[in-house]
Amino acid sequence: MKWVMIATWRMAIEGITEAAEDLKNDGYSGEAVEKAIKIVEDFPYYKSVGYGGLPNENCQVELDAAYMDGDTLSIGAIGGITDFKNPISIAKKLSKERFNCFLVGAGADEYAKKEGFHRINMLTDRAKRYYEKRKRKTVDKGLSPYDGHDTVGIISVDKAGKMVVGTSTSGLFMKKKGRVGDSPISGSGFYVDSEVGGATATGLGEDLMKGCISYEIVRLMKDGLQPQEAADKAVSELNEKLIKRRGKSGDISIVALNNKGEWGVSTNIEGFSFSVVSEDEKPMVYVCNKIKHGKTTYDVASEQWLEAYLNRIKSPITFD
Ligand code: ASP
Repeated sequence: MKWVMIATWRMAIEGITEAAEDLKNDGYSGEAVEKAIKIVEDFPYYKSVGYGGLPNENCQVELDAAYMDGDTLSIGAIGGITDFKNPISIAKKLSKERFNCFLVGAGADEYAKKEGFHRINMLTDRAKRYYEKRKRKTVDKGLSPYDGHDTVGIISVDKAGKMVVGTSTSGLFMKKKGRVGDSPISGSGFYVDSEVGGATATGLGEDLMKGCISYEIVRLMKDGLQPQEAADKAVSELNEKLIKRRGKSGDISIVALNNKGEWGVSTNIEGFSFSVVSEDEKPMVYVCNKIKHGKTTYDVASEQWLEAYLNRIKSPITFD
């Protein structure tokens, strides 16, 4: 069977490139997804996931993560955990539990501590600077501070046909303490069923949850749609529904993969990037144009785009 990994955003490329080596050598999707997401969590310049993630309104980094096994449908998830290095590993461990597999806040902290997960202060000086800058520009002027978020979501199918999905995020920048987005919520931020396929979302959690969008895409694939058709149909329907009923729609971006290794992507924003690697595709970053007439288009990221990305994430944070 053809193995594939597909992930939200450019930030996943190093992780999936490394994890692909395992999939090549008959590795298991679960290990590959955990390994790839840990690499994203550990990189301090990715400011929306793990170490270096942007904090809540109290300048505290609260992290959400989830892990789902497409064979057994087991799910492990955490919401609002603080100061643990690899939220994805905690979620994976929780997926082995029969009960109490979704823990939040102090309960999640307590569990992770008891299970011996690595504890560190997740707030970097750089993230603190972002916080101070945003506070001066928005909160202190009575403006909305909510802008800036991204989740790494990775779906994998391995040579044995086993599918797994994982997500990890620091959520909405400047969020209220205790706010949890879609990323650890089954059906919204992620869903996978090895008999069909999987999907994972990134964007405004409050809106993604209104459509249970990841489950909806898997359901459409089960009805016979290709991942690309399913993703575009679910994204355009949710986007239009939100605009019709509420006057606007938040950011919605999705990647989907079926159990044959076919993938799709859809987004209502310009410039959503995603990363793919498979048995017959070398690791590649793509950049999307937003959905138009029900179809999302994308191109391979240019050298120029990739270089600008690296410069942007590492550029100094100035207070102008
Ligand atoms: N969906 C995440 C959240 O709302 C953030 C993101 O993916 O951009 O927490």
